[in-house]
Amino acid sequence: MAVEFSRRLAKLPPYPFAEINRKKKQAIAEGKDVISFGVGDPDQPTPGHIVKAAQAALENPKYHHYPFDAGLSEFRKAVSQWYASRFNVTLDPDTQVRACIGSKDGLSHAHFALLDPGDVALMPDPGYPVYATSTIFAGGKPYALPLKEKNDFLPDLEAVPKAVLQKTKILFLNSPGNPTSAVADGAFFEKAVRMAKKYNFVILHDAAYSEIYFENPPISFLSVPGAADVGVEYHSLSKTYNMTGWRIGWYCGNASIVGVLGSTKENFDSGVFEAVQIAGVSALTSPQDCVRDMRKLYKERRDLLCDGLKNLGWKFRLPEASFYIWVQTPKGYTSNKTVEKLIDDASLMTIPGSALGKHGEGYIRFALTVPKERIQAALSRLAKIRW
Ligand SMILES: *Cc1c(COP(=O)(O)O)cnc(C)c1O
Repeated sequence: MAVEFSRRLAKLPPYPFAEINRKKKQAIAEGKDVISFGVGDPDQPTPGHIVKAAQAALENPKYHHYPFDAGLSEFRKAVSQWYASRFNVTLDPDTQVRACIGSKDGLSHAHFALLDPGDVALMPDPGYPVYATSTIFAGGKPYALPLKEKNDFLPDLEAVPKAVLQKTKILFLNSPGNPTSAVADGAFFEKAVRMAKKYNFVILHDAAYSEIYFENPPISFLSVPGAADVGVEYHSLSKTYNMTGWRIGWYCGNASIVGVLGSTKENFDSGVFEAVQIAGVSALTSPQDCVRDMRKLYKERRDLLCDGLKNLGWKFRLPEASFYIWVQTPKGYTSNKTVEKLIDDASLMTIPGSALGKHGEGYIRFALTVPKERIQAALSRLAKIRW
């Protein structure tokens, strides 16, 4: 074809998980029994009461129309009640909460509202690839905040040069973090808020893993003083309720930022299917036993995999939250070489840290979305590999 695709496209790195999925499919096509610790998609089904709520809503013609862009008021109220009980944060459901088609959708449209060409967005590296790709789509400049073990895998905001901060319009944060599982505390968020006020930028906090924790519950960014002056928080039902396929999340916080993000997004889509929002209401307002059980399951898997890896000499920090383990590669192996060897020698899928940012080199990521028997089998295979 003679058509030239946009120059923007040429600037994007290849979507890392697409390539990894291709490799996985190839191994399966070759008849190998692949155990995948790759893409972070919960293996468990959506809890039954949520599915039932959606089934009833599906039968109701009231929900068959174009959704109202901000989201159903029942959904926004459920979010605001959930915030009050979980984080002790008050949100006005009318002005401070908007539904989105999963947090990826919300995150990937923010740039159009906030960035002009040449503006900077600061983002954790390694991190969720969407922050960088959408910045590039909007003509902005991604600026990597390296996540290093010596800083507990939190970004060192003070290390960012003043000239960069002066051009910064967005600071992305993500706690609990994918892939490092680092959890930010109040002092960290307070520092970020102080800098946002000083340099006039917006903070977009991605809290997709806030409910997947093994020790203390992580705090909300919005619970620190001044946060709602400068930022919004993105949430998702995907990980908390095993609902990745349903496509529902929300963003909440500063009313004028929420408003401008909403009026931008109205130009791209027509909201979240209302039957799915009713499922979301059921998820957020029903007893949270399913979430407690899920945490227990991930904790058992974490302990099994981490004990096994430790015994085999792998180096990592025991994650306190998220469902990822961020593991150092063996001496002399890059992230890619390690992942390739794990596929070739043991049919084990992991994610190379370098696919999540250049500062992810030297690590691989395991997702705990694998049943215990399979984790056990994976550990036996790992024990046989010669490095
Ligand atoms: C999984 C994930 C999300 C959630 O994506 P949805 O679009 O809500 O399914 C957001 N951020 C991070 C870091 C994630 O890993």
